[in-house]
Amino acid sequence: MQYKAPSGTRDIFASDITLWHMVEKTACKQAERAGYIEIRTPAFEQTDLFMRGIGEESEVVQKQMYTFTTPGGESLTLRPEITAPVMRAYIEHSMHKTGAFRKFYYLGPSFRYERAQKGRWRQFSQFGVEAIGSESPLADVETIVLAWDILKQSGVPGLKLLINSIGCPECRPLFRKALGDYITEKKDKLCKDCVRRIDTNILRILDCKNESCREAVKDAPDVSQFLCQTCETHFEVVKRGVKQFIPDWKLDPHLVRGLDYYTHTVYEFVAGELGSQNAVGGGGRYNLLVEELGGPPTPSVGFALGLDRIVLSLQSSVENRLANASPTVYLVSISDELREPAFEIVLRLRRSSIPADMDFENRSLKAQFRAANKSGAQFVAVLGPEEHSKGLVNLKCLADGTQEPVSVESLVEKILGKK
Ligand code: AMP
Repeated sequence: MQYKAPSGTRDIFASDITLWHMVEKTACKQAERAGYIEIRTPAFEQTDLFMRGIGEESEVVQKQMYTFTTPGGESLTLRPEITAPVMRAYIEHSMHKTGAFRKFYYLGPSFRYERAQKGRWRQFSQFGVEAIGSESPLADVETIVLAWDILKQSGVPGLKLLINSIGCPECRPLFRKALGDYITEKKDKLCKDCVRRIDTNILRILDCKNESCREAVKDAPDVSQFLCQTCETHFEVVKRGVKQFIPDWKLDPHLVRGLDYYTHTVYEFVAGELGSQNAVGGGGRYNLLVEELGGPPTPSVGFALGLDRIVLSLQSSVENRLANASPTVYLVSISDELREPAFEIVLRLRRSSIPADMDFENRSLKAQFRAANKSGAQFVAVLGPEEHSKGLVNLKCLADGTQEPVSVESLVEKILGKK
């Protein structure tokens, strides 16, 4: 029996992990610069948290949760997203009592039983932020600009922001009614899920990917015509900030979230070159979520980025494929007895923060040189008996072909000076 990684999961190897680290570091650094601090929550939570926090009618809760019963009889679910857990932690630790405004970022795996394909996995990683306790539209702008800067600095190609306002409980019923009147006429054109959504989650029909549903909603009423004064003013400030700081953005009146606790701004980031799974992140304001989960009224805004898709979008660039973890220096030993002293030099270099490596398979001299070239190292240090007796190595710079004997003591300095 040969075991395989379960469908929708995969192993990630070194050449990609370099990209993962780069994206993760970029994201954490940018978030910290904007005053967000890290939070880590468990990989599973009580099932009910997600039923309430994502909504019982949502596709995620209906079809995609990994739910299990513990031997103790408790129903738990692997987190399909991380916003509800962060909000749960905020409420559980009474953070509203000690200065309501908190800014968190998180990073980790989420789990959804999806139809697995490229760009859509059953275990995927998200980086996200939550700004909890501010109703200022500037907080919306802050999260949008932060996500954009993370994606841009990571090098995501063909990046675009889509943005919309979906109103609030004051004005949304009017929009919902107008949409309902429009859509009922087109009922026979809708997919099975969308027919059900007419009663359960009508806004979601607007962003159904089904071709026939897209055609049906083409001329649907535009939410912007239904916004109340407060929503309009809020959205004006958001758009002003976006115009100033985001070079590539578009209003998308069909961008929605289906649930009542989402208010005002919604946004999504799409990347070129990713085909149908091109959303690399999404976010928005959820002023009523904390209350939905049993906390006090706490307006909040945040986003989640899909790290797997970000890395996928970067892999197409040749430079990135080559930029794997290559050592700076590769030690070659001329004879077997010199492997141990060569290894000592490798360890010394590493302790001085210089990436170094050597052959561990007792390969011939020729094969060691081949491995050195293949490793992508900038320098090859050759240790022969004569050099060893004098405390030297022969240092060859692969970029310009120059070589010179260098004392082991001054090796670090020499390499740093040449790098
Ligand atoms: P959502 O919580 O659905 O808004 O997801 C936020 C982001 O997570 C999306 O924009 C995607 O980039 C990413 N994402 C969501 N589901 C998956 C999945 N099954 N596989 C890979 N990435 C995903």
